[in-house]
This record gives sequence, C-alpha cells and structure tokens, in this order.
Amino acid sequence: MHFDIAIVGGGHAGIEAAVISAKRGFKTALISLDKNKIGLMSCNPAIGGLAKGQLVREIDALGGVMGKIIDEAGIHFKMLNTSKGPAVQSPRAQADRSFYAQVAQKHIAAHNNIKVIEDMAVEILVEKNSAVGLVLLNNKKLFADRVVLTAGTFLNGVIHVGTHNLKAGRAGDLPSVGITESLQRYGFKSGRLKTGTPPRIHKDSLDYTKLEIQKPDDVPQPFSYSTDGINRAQVNCFITYTNEETHNILRTGFDRSPMFTGRIKGMGPRYCPSIEDKIDRFADKNRHQLFLEPEGYNSDEIYVNGFSTSLPGEVQEKAIKKVPGLENAEILRLGYAVDYDFFPPDQLVNTLETKKIKNLYFAGQINGTSGYEEAAAQGLMAGLNATLSLQNESPFILKRSEAYIGVLIDDLINKIHAEPYRMFTSRAEFRLLLRQDNADLRLMDYAKKFGVLDEKAEQKLVLRRNHIQKITDSVLPKKIDPTRFNMFGKDLQSSLLKQTVTIEELLRRPELRLQELLDRLEIKNDFIKSSILDVEYSVKYKGYLERQEALIKKFNKMEEKRIPENLDFLSIESLSAEAREKLNKIKPKSLGQASRISGVRHSDLSILMIYIEKYLREKVSRETV
Ligand SMILES: Cc1cc2nc3c(=O)[nH]c(=O)nc-3n(C[C@H](O)[C@H](O)[C@H](O)COP(=O)(O)OP(=O)(O)OC[C@H]3O[C@@H](n4cnc5c(N)ncnc54)[C@H](O)[C@@H]3O)c2cc1C
Repeated sequence: MHFDIAIVGGGHAGIEAAVISAKRGFKTALISLDKNKIGLMSCNPAIGGLAKGQLVREIDALGGVMGKIIDEAGIHFKMLNTSKGPAVQSPRAQADRSFYAQVAQKHIAAHNNIKVIEDMAVEILVEKNSAVGLVLLNNKKLFADRVVLTAGTFLNGVIHVGTHNLKAGRAGDLPSVGITESLQRYGFKSGRLKTGTPPRIHKDSLDYTKLEIQKPDDVPQPFSYSTDGINRAQVNCFITYTNEETHNILRTGFDRSPMFTGRIKGMGPRYCPSIEDKIDRFADKNRHQLFLEPEGYNSDEIYVNGFSTSLPGEVQEKAIKKVPGLENAEILRLGYAVDYDFFPPDQLVNTLETKKIKNLYFAGQINGTSGYEEAAAQGLMAGLNATLSLQNESPFILKRSEAYIGVLIDDLINKIHAEPYRMFTSRAEFRLLLRQDNADLRLMDYAKKFGVLDEKAEQKLVLRRNHIQKITDSVLPKKIDPTRFNMFGKDLQSSLLKQTVTIEELLRRPELRLQELLDRLEIKNDFIKSSILDVEYSVKYKGYLERQEALIKKFNKMEEKRIPENLDFLSIESLSAEAREKLNKIKPKSLGQASRISGVRHSDLSILMIYIEKYLREKVSRETV
C-alpha cells in the first residue's frame, strides 16, 4: 500500500485534507476508525457562527467542501449580527446531523483517487527524520510520501459522566491509542484538553407553548459560492432559560463532577463553558439562555445548546426538568465530557508541518483547537501544503490580512494556548477586510492557481468582479438632482438635498443603502446583491479601509524582514530571558512573526532588528573574504 498522501481521521479536518489532495490529483488514503462515521458532527449539529462562518466561506473559496456540505444538509439558516456592521456578520446553519455525514461521505466518494481505509493508525512510520507512512492495527503497514494527522478528540480519549468514565474518542467510538506514544518517542510534547456536550431530549417531550420560537431567515443564504440557493424546508429552533431551581439541583452534583473533583485534567474552552461552570463562575446570574435545536428532519433528538455537562445522569435529568418547557423532558442521551491528548501547536511551522519530523502534518482538534470550522480550515491548509511540498512548490501561507485562516494558523503556532482555541472576530485585526461576503474576492485566485476552483464558482467570480467594476464606474458617479432625491429622502430619514450630488456622496450618509437608492431612483440594475454590498462598504468605510491598508503595508514590511535560519537566539544576551526562550522555541521566520509571539516585547524586537542587521553585515563580509 503506497500513497502520495495518507490522512489519519475522517473528521472535518481529514475530509478537507483528503478532498483537496484528491482534487490536486494525488493518490490519497483516508484512514478512519469507522467509515460510516466520516463527517460525523460529534457535538452541536451546526456549522458557522461568529467568525466561524467566515472560516467556512474561506474554506469554500479555497476549494474546500464544508460550505457545500452544510448547504445540502442545513435545516435552519441564519445570518448573525445583521443589525451590526459587516465585519461581524456571520452565517450559521443548523444541520440535519446524520444527513451531514452522508453528504460528506458522498463528497469523498466522488473522488476515485481517495481510498477510504477503515482501520486504526497506531504509529507514524519515520525514516531519517521523515514520515514515510503508518502502522495500522495488526501491524499492517501503509506507506505514504506525506502523512496528515487529524485524529480529533480520539487520542487516548476518556469520556466522563459523573463518577463514571470510559475510554472512548467520543460516545460510541473507540479511543485512538498508540499515536501519542509513538510521537512522544520522537520528542513531541503532548497535553490534555477537555470538551463537553449537552444531553439530547425527545422532541415530543417539549412543551412548545412555553418556548420562544427562533425562526430561520426568510431567504436562507448559502455558505458555498457554488450553491445557487437553499430550497429545502427550514425548521424553527426554540429558546428557554434555566432558573435558580435548575441551578440548585445542578449544585447537588458538584461533589461528583469530574471537572470539579479533578478527574478531568485537561482544560476546557472558557468561552464555551459547561452549565456547571457557568453556575460556578457566574454565581450572580439567576438564569442562562438555552437554545433547543432539532438534530434533523427525521430525528427525534433535540440538542440543548448551552447545557453542556458531565454531571451525574440523575442530576442532569432532575435539573433539566426544572427548565420551563422541559418539565417532561425525556433524555435520549446524557451530556458528557471528553478529555484527550493534543499536541501544542508551537511544534509546527506555518504550513502545519511538524518541526521535528518532515513530511508529517497535524491538523484539527489535535492542534489544541475546538470546533468543526477551525478543524476544517487546518485540514485544507495541511492537505494543500502537503501536495505543494510533493511538487516541490513554495508553501501556501495566508497572511493575517488576507484571511481568518491566516489569523488562525499564525495564532496557533506563535502563541501559547492554555485552553482550546476558538476563532473570534476580535482575533482578526483586519476584520473589516476579512468579511464573510468577500472571501471569494480575497481567495479564489489562489484556488484557481492551485487548480481547485470549481467552474461554477469561477464563473460567478468573474461576473461579480464585472458588476463591482460597473457599479463603481457607472453608478457611483451618477449625479442626482435634489428634487428627485427629496421625493423619497424623508421616507429614509435622510435630510433634504439642496444641490446636485453623486450617488457616491449620498452613500456616505449612514442611513442610506445602495440597493434602496437604486430602487428608489429607478436605476435599472441586475447587479449581484453581494457586488452591490461590496461597493457600498467600500464607500461607507473608505477612511477606515484606507487606514487598515496602511497598517497592512507596515505589517508586511515587518514580515519581509527575514530572520536568518539557524540564528542562535539563546546567544543574544541583550534579549530578555523570556524572549530568548520563546524565540528559541518557535524559531520565527520573520520579524513580523517574532512580534506576535507572546512574551516578546517591543524592546526585544528593536534588539533583534539591530542584531540581524549586524549579523547579515558580518556574514557578507565573511563571504567576501
Ligand atoms: C463530546 C464532544 C463535545 C464537543 N463540544 C464542542 C463544543 O462545544 N464546541 C466546539 O467547537 N467543538 C466541540 N467539539 C469538538 C468538535 O467535535 C471538534 O472540534 C471537531 O470535530 C474536530 O474535527 P477533527 O477533524 O479535528 O476531529 P474529529 O471530528 O474528532 O474526527 C477525528 C477523526 O479521526 C478518526 N481517528 C482518530 N484516531 C484515529 C486513528 N488512530 N486511526 C484512524 N482514524 C482515527 C476518528 O474516527 C474521526 O473520524 C466536541 C467534541 C466532542 C467529542
């Protein structure tokens, strides 16, 4: 068995890695514990959300499949934050959980050059410090020129409910054993992290009269640029709240909580706390919001979002019945926590290749992240870079100013993470440029270059750019007579015009929207909606965008200042001790990268800059002699 690329794990990272590798023409092995669970959503059956929606749009623009899968399997689409600015708007969709996995498997099956192998990888085969394949169960060997490890929450996974625990990757799945130990032998550091999931309840046991309805958007917006529209029936979600009674019952289980008693060693995500954590940390809050989310058209299960817990079963059951609308809740599956091994990602370079072993890439939850979208983004980048390295091509590194994916990987490799990493819009310093609506304009040229852009997406991109140009050239400069505007200006809460102005000038008024102006002024237009929005934002946020562009230039200058390979940071005594240690550990490639390492101060950067200049001058003079 010899492959170009072997991918361990058929989760969200593994799927993207496999598809991108296959799309680029490589013979790919996808090894997964259970082939019928490829693409299974371990926890919340939802894709997208704040900043995560941006990641999915970027994955799609780069030739990935997550957007296409959720477009086919989504049952409740919602654009979040529509009342706020464009930088923080994000698409989210609830999925039909089992159908999502089926669609994911269909995408894998569409590629003849992906061979799915149902097995467990127990060891990475290494020769001369390079990965050359895998050892599977029963000592079978599989050889590959590149190996991508995406084992999720499975590495030595243990699941916990109250005082009970069980070795498992997630409920119903074996843990993965052997890989961590085999990598530790090569000097890899590993740690433990934890995540949890809420109970699922029977949909017929809810009292819907006591629940708030959360409707999907009237016009669901697809994630994928290749999807024309979502025509499937959409379902409602529901909202309710915990109360003091629920909290008091939950407190009775704290002495048996695996988290509070220290049985779980791994750190959990602070921003996605369990209900017991919320009660403990926010003791002054007398209620917490719960979203009740159907798991599919034909599923009886309702996911109780916000009630993740690993408290004993009887405590979960009693407590949930105190929540309005859930008095008769029938629990179909208990909530539980899982703790698992991860590899601190400072052991990777920005292609996601490991520093210690060549041709070995890590992606997904094993890099200390949490979430399907973060995992998928890494899988895509690891898979793509593995293919580029097979072709001896330059690696593909996205800058922080180009994509959330760039922010994600840069943060992972340069920062020390004590808890699972989740993407937020606040992590991206250039978020007005990295909007969910413009991932195509930002990234599809790369996909085209790598030969992974769908024909349909490309056609749409060409049309969209064409429309943006047309609107900019022919609509924005149009002069509007005051009498014409004043006929409707008041309706739009806009002050009356006294003199002729252009549409561009009108658009600078915060209350006016371009689409509305085009309609009211009866300017014939069949422009794509997203092109209209793009032009509108470029006018409304012109000053801000220009400031961001100027910052990016400064930022890029720092990136261009390369740090010579093999520079011995430990010998630069004028650096602070912390900077010496961190720089030596991460070995940044540029001054820009060094500046983002936690613990490296401005004063360290100045010292480093002077040192590098001196080092390079001396090198030149040595070479001339
Ligand atoms: C109980 C639970 C609760 C969670 N809660 C949250 C949450 O609240 N918020 C959040 O953002 N995320 C949560 N997650 C995490 C979410 O599921 C992951 O972020 C996401 O699935 C990671 O994708 P991945 O591709 O890295 O790994 P996974 O989706 O875990 O997939 C790993 C794949 O690797 C395979 N595999 C593992 N080891 C081997 C091996 N040795 N050989 C062959 N195949 C192997 C498995 O079969 C599986 O297909 C939760 C996960 C679990 C299990």
